[in-house]
Amino acid sequence: MSLELSKKAKSVKQSSTLAITAKAKEMKSSGIDVVGFGAGEPDFDTPENIRNAGKKAIDDGFTRYTPASGTAELKKAVSAKFAEFNHLHYDPDQIVISNGGKHSLTNIFQAITNPGDEVIIPVPYWLTYPELVKMCDGVPVFLETKKENGFKIDIEDLKALVSPATKALILNTPCNPTGMIYSKAELQAIADLAVEKDFFIIADEMYEYLTYCGKEHVSIASLGEEIYKRTITCSGVSKAYAMTGWRIGYTGSSKEIAKIMSSIQSHETSNPNSIAQKAAVEALTGPQDAIEMMRQAFDERRQYMKKRIDGLPLVSALEPDGAFYCFIDCSGLYGKEYRGAKIESAADAAAILLEEFHVAVVPCADFGCPTYIRLSYATSMDMIEKGMDRIESFVSEL
Ligand code: PLP
Repeated sequence: MSLELSKKAKSVKQSSTLAITAKAKEMKSSGIDVVGFGAGEPDFDTPENIRNAGKKAIDDGFTRYTPASGTAELKKAVSAKFAEFNHLHYDPDQIVISNGGKHSLTNIFQAITNPGDEVIIPVPYWLTYPELVKMCDGVPVFLETKKENGFKIDIEDLKALVSPATKALILNTPCNPTGMIYSKAELQAIADLAVEKDFFIIADEMYEYLTYCGKEHVSIASLGEEIYKRTITCSGVSKAYAMTGWRIGYTGSSKEIAKIMSSIQSHETSNPNSIAQKAAVEALTGPQDAIEMMRQAFDERRQYMKKRIDGLPLVSALEPDGAFYCFIDCSGLYGKEYRGAKIESAADAAAILLEEFHVAVVPCADFGCPTYIRLSYATSMDMIEKGMDRIESFVSEL
């Protein structure tokens, strides 16, 4: 007998973004005027029509188990959204509704990975990917990208990394943390390679509605029959509809994969929350003007934040085309001192910003980029102005 706990579970890191957000909230509740640039969630309330749909679901007694992989009504709404927005045909039985995008991704890795299978993750990556891959017995393999290339996949580098053990590539567009968006031509090259070498694409399109400067979101699965077969498309209502707390994500995949994921989910969590499913139906089928209003507000904040970063010495950022993050190169701060403390990493800079200037930012070591910090502009313009003033004071004191 042994009381030793699971080695695999113990190796999973805590989400540092959630930890920073929690620390900022704690400081705020103790009366400190903290500006939070950490959270990856819209500051807007869930639109009223969606909230009302949730209330109505409760009043109507829609409070019991639903089919484990989601209601027929919501799958139909997701199927219509895939057709209209993504130009993708997924029948309702190819769709699985889950408890948020993270849960959808967990289902995907559980469905496709066998022990030792490699999953290629382009760097910088959303910090959850490697942990999920490991939890599902896969092996994360990191594909470095270059700033000069907009942190996008270089097809030759990808080719070099593909091995007989490659099971899948994670493709996140628009990307968290860089804000980059893949063009159709770039996606086509990746799709051609996936078809030639026969690996899956896990297309995380959670930020698909949040694109700027007229840049178009393209779903890789829409580029042809062969890549469609090899792609699992994943999205949800969290970011676009300001519904992070409702926990609804979804996938479109082959019927076979959808069936496996439904079975896993039926044992793991049963259905996603029935009330949230009704609210998600309203989100997808009701008036869409609120998402455009939020997108425009994010765009305005994006431009303002980028302009302020451009005015700072020692740091720089590429123009983000999508999502709601600025990804800032802090290597110019290395070796500088703040009141006797030497800065040797972006984490050092982030710690000083939080403790001394009361600005919460995300140091990106857990995103594979220890010289970068991520600022979220999913917060009010007043907060962004205040936070950028404080960052400016910090940098000019160095
Ligand atoms: N994918 C990416 C790239 C994300 O940034 C997030 C959330 O931060 C998700 C998926 C998961 O979203 P959800 O809140 O629906 O789990």
